[in-house]
Amino acid sequence: MVSLLPFAFCLLTFFSMIVMKFGGTSVESASAIERVAGIVRSRLERRPVVVVSAMGKTTNKLLAIARTAVEGHRKEAIQQIHELRDFHSHQARQVVSLAERAELDLLLDEHFQELTELVKGLSVLGEATPRSIDAISSYGERLSSHIVTRALRHFSIDAVHVDSRHVVVTDGRFTQAAPQYGLTYPKLKAGLLPLLEQGKVVVMGGFIGSTEEGVTTTLGRGGSDFSASIIGAGIGAEEIQIWTDVDGMLTCDPAILPGGRRVKVISFPEAAELAYFGAKVLHPSTLLPAMDRNIPVFILNSRDAGCEGTKILPQAPATSNLAKSIACKKNITVVDISSTRMLMAHGFLHKIFEIFDRYETPVDMVTTSEVSVSLTIDKTDRLEDITRELSRFAEVRHENRQAIICVVGDNIRYTPGVAGRIFKAVEHINVRMISQGASLRNVSFVIQESDLKPAVQALHTAFFSQLDPEIFA
Ligand code: ADP
Ligand code: ASP
Ligand code: MG
Repeated sequence: MVSLLPFAFCLLTFFSMIVMKFGGTSVESASAIERVAGIVRSRLERRPVVVVSAMGKTTNKLLAIARTAVEGHRKEAIQQIHELRDFHSHQARQVVSLAERAELDLLLDEHFQELTELVKGLSVLGEATPRSIDAISSYGERLSSHIVTRALRHFSIDAVHVDSRHVVVTDGRFTQAAPQYGLTYPKLKAGLLPLLEQGKVVVMGGFIGSTEEGVTTTLGRGGSDFSASIIGAGIGAEEIQIWTDVDGMLTCDPAILPGGRRVKVISFPEAAELAYFGAKVLHPSTLLPAMDRNIPVFILNSRDAGCEGTKILPQAPATSNLAKSIACKKNITVVDISSTRMLMAHGFLHKIFEIFDRYETPVDMVTTSEVSVSLTIDKTDRLEDITRELSRFAEVRHENRQAIICVVGDNIRYTPGVAGRIFKAVEHINVRMISQGASLRNVSFVIQESDLKPAVQALHTAFFSQLDPEIFA
């Protein structure tokens, strides 16, 4: 018999859908969740899939619990679990109907009992593997997604929970897992489209997935944005919305320099560069699946749903402004590797990068001179091993508390003299590594972390004193 299933899915995808991702602060409390319900309700006709992060700082707390247990402080770890349970229970009870309260308690019992067992295991072993870290950090999104599902129902929205671990398949690189698109997309279509077609609002946890064998994984810190994009691309959504605690992509990181302006519209490559160089408002991998399927991404403020946010499109409209935003990354370590002996020798760079690769330490920026290579990393847990290996053939020095600043804008590639303007603006600051990526759309450089604020301030004045009203709010 010929299966009608593929045909049915073809038909089902004729309706349009959107993905709405709500970050930690957007679901941090009962009142925040109530706001989410209002936002979702106002978009019901667009058939939303709601993707949620863990509530507030839950992921940090789970990781702290794991650390406490590994250090052998079992009682304190269990106490912290109780506090986390009280927090979830207290917030959830205010947004879950009386009829669902018993079920909510059961759900919390189950999850926190499992978590307690895992944490006890860690305290016995005295060590945590990346796999067990993922098992523990997954509880934040597992809990928040169940709570938000029930809360939406309490606010009369026909919501249904789908466990992301059943539909987002990843490789086994725990704590940094990569989605297996070929396996994930068909599962997303089969799992979500029939529910959306029935008019249900699907609620899922971001950040989490599982291997083909069903072992829980996570996509890396901040990964719920990435989940939203994977889900949007998988079901062919019309739009992916990232709801957060700021008005959109701003001209600078508000945590470094308040007063940045909202960028109304920006291109995929510009936003991707900004995310890569530290604009935390988007996880660096977020735009890949969306770009692949040409799905526009919006950044919106869950505390001010009326604000039109930032629209990220394949191409941004032409503008007179050179830069769109300034991204920065703190806590960077610069590694200087020099070797007169190996200078220009065939395979020198390969040898260096192979070592960083073997110790799973990503390199962000690289510059070379005649006798040395300088590079930056932000993950330093394997730096001792890396230094030992590099020291066999080169002299190695490192310096921490450095920062990368990156000025991004499509126009940078077409305009001569941008570098001159940038370095004129920061002429009072000591700049050490300078680089312009192959896209020519950014200029990045390294300074001491203590110089970050004055540097961003000076660049902001130089590039954003006059703004094209079509592009900036
Ligand atoms: P969520 O929990 O919603 O995922 P995040 O904390 O991950 O939120 O991201 C939002 C934060 O990103 C903002 O509060 C802001 O501090 C930071 N951020 C960094 N750079 C930018 C930028 N250029 N524009 C807007 N926000 C930025
Ligand atoms: N809860 C996860 C984290 O804190 C994922 C996310 O919020 O995007 O990293
Ligand atoms: Mg985030």
